[in-house]
Amino acid sequence: MMGRTSNTYLPKDWHSRLPDPAAYYTQHLDKLGDVAANGWAMALCPFHDDYESSLSVKLIGIKGAYRCDTCGNHGDMVAFHMARTELPFKEAVRDLIGLRGRG
Ligand SMILES: [Zn+2]
Repeated sequence: MMGRTSNTYLPKDWHSRLPDPAAYYTQHLDKLGDVAANGWAMALCPFHDDYESSLSVKLIGIKGAYRCDTCGNHGDMVAFHMARTELPFKEAVRDLIGLRGRG
C-alpha cells in the first residue's frame, strides 16, 4: 500500500496500559468458563475448529497467558491479539492500549 502512515511508536509504559486479561478474554472468547483456583479458565479456541473448549487462558495476573493443547497455539495476551487480528507486534500492542489509528 502506497503512502502508508501507520504509526508504530510504542509509549514506554505500554505494558502497564494493557487491558486486564480477564476483561480482554471475556470480550474475545466464546464459552469462557469459570476461573479455577490456579487462575486458569477454559474457552473455545479461536485458532482451530474447536467444540470442546480446549483453550486454557490465565485470567489472573497481567500476562494473560494462553495455550491450546489441540492446535498448539500459545503465548501471552499480546501474542493472542496478534494471532486474532493478524497485526504485527507493535500495532497489536497499540490496538490493545487504544492507540491504533491515532497520530
Ligand atoms: Zn486451538
